Amino acid sequence: MKKFLLCLSALIIGGNLVMAADFEQPFARGEVNPFGKYFTGQTYLNMLCTRDNVYNSSIGNVTFEPKARTNWHKHSGGQILLVTAGEGRYQERGKDIQILKPGDVVKIAPDVEHWHGAGPDGMFAHISIEPNIPNNGATWLEPVTDEEYFGGNK
Ligand code: MN
Repeated sequence: MKKFLLCLSALIIGGNLVMAADFEQPFARGEVNPFGKYFTGQTYLNMLCTRDNVYNSSIGNVTFEPKARTNWHKHSGGQILLVTAGEGRYQERGKDIQILKPGDVVKIAPDVEHWHGAGPDGMFAHISIEPNIPNNGATWLEPVTDEEYFGGNK
């Protein structure tokens, strides 16, 4: 009965049988993302190096449930993504969607509008590095529509 309820909750929460608690990744998942209002779907954030003026970087592990993604946004000081687990998506405004796999590195130039997130069928995790602190702020824009997410628009 307990197993049945676990599977049922997985179906309800994720739309498939991969539960967040079972997703294997090298860094801890952390808590529900406090910046969730800038995302579609459920995401988690574990800050590994908080903003400071010693290392000049803000580094966090971001975990996405299937289909979860950021809004369109840009970083005034750029961003580097290190893909650690699962299959993800990345798109710059006006360009094709890229599929991300563990080991991929995405270098996002300052002020380039983009989004990143999970693929439709499984969980995804990346390390987010925001360099050039304190001269790096995010500007959050509109949500990525399902049509955009599934490749209908660029
Ligand atoms: Mn970004």
